[in-house]
Amino acid sequence: MAKSTFEYVKKFELDDTILPNTWMVVRLDGKCFHKFSDDHNFAKPNDIRALRLMNFAAFSVLREFNDVLMAFGQSDEYSFIFRKHTTLYKRRAAKLLTTINSKFSSSYVYYWPKFFEREPLKYPPAFDGRIVTYPSEENLIDYMKWRQADVHINNLYNTTFWTLVLKGNLTPQQAEKRLCGTVSADKNEILFQEFNMNYNNEPEIFKRGTLLIRKSISNDQEHQSVIIDVHDDMLRDKFWVEHSSLLLEKKIKTNLVYEGPITDII
Ligand code: ATP
Ligand code: ATP
Ligand code: MG
Ligand code: MG
Ligand code: MG
Ligand code: MG
Repeated sequence: MAKSTFEYVKKFELDDTILPNTWMVVRLDGKCFHKFSDDHNFAKPNDIRALRLMNFAAFSVLREFNDVLMAFGQSDEYSFIFRKHTTLYKRRAAKLLTTINSKFSSSYVYYWPKFFEREPLKYPPAFDGRIVTYPSEENLIDYMKWRQADVHINNLYNTTFWTLVLKGNLTPQQAEKRLCGTVSADKNEILFQEFNMNYNNEPEIFKRGTLLIRKSISNDQEHQSVIIDVHDDMLRDKFWVEHSSLLLEKKIKTNLVYEGPITDII
């Protein structure tokens, strides 16, 4: 087709190609989920339906984009880690970020009724997103540790806060005041001494978030890659030794089957 006189406007599009051979992380976060979770009666501090829905929306991203090696989710956020040498969308930042975000967001809405059977979705939620690049494996591992440390800090605080409110009959203001200036050990003590609760016994998904990874399984002649959810402690360096293959470039098969709790719900 002949070039039109309008086509020069295309030149206004700026190049946003991401440096080759660096680790790209897309992180999404729910917009105003404090309010969204109230409006949809999320259980406090952790609504398991909401976490499973987040995981399933992330799973549908991994199922479609083979260049996403793994993903980590907690609360209203999810991080997607691309394989280092991916050339998906020629590494154009806006393309990558917007496509991952919209696939995730529309999946969140699409699968909502499967997880929130008796809780209708009142309005369409939104997620913000950013893309960050890390030049070394060490930086990437520290990123993963940073997000998981965040789960721990928030969950210990929230668990203690809501226990004081729901079981200790404190007002939210009183609970906040009570926790002001406390360290982790103090919160563990409050839970244990006053409510006979051992924080260690809380569900792993609450304490550690969810890591979705691809795992190869072979039987006789067939090799398959499946996506599984784990709730391991990524803060231990041992985790990254045991899972060193996670960050390796592999020939990724498209034949994905999912096994594990997520399909049990569907
Ligand atoms: P912003 O738009 O700046 O992200 P936000 O209200 O979403 O604002 P966040 O810091 O992202 O703030 O916090 C998300 C909030 O969503 C949590 O503090 C919590 O109140 C709620 N939330 C998210 N997931 C769950 C869940 N599974 N169960 C209960 N509450 C949740
Ligand atoms: P890409 O992912 O690269 O955007 P694409 O298949 O979406 O690939 P586009 O150039 O965006 O390619 O073209 C969108 C296509 O969607 C159209 O060519 C047409 O086939 C179809 N389409 C979009 N809107 C309509 C519509 N209202 N009615 C019929 N077909 C439509
Ligand atoms: Mg935010
Ligand atoms: Mg948020
Ligand atoms: Mg958040
Ligand atoms: Mg199109």
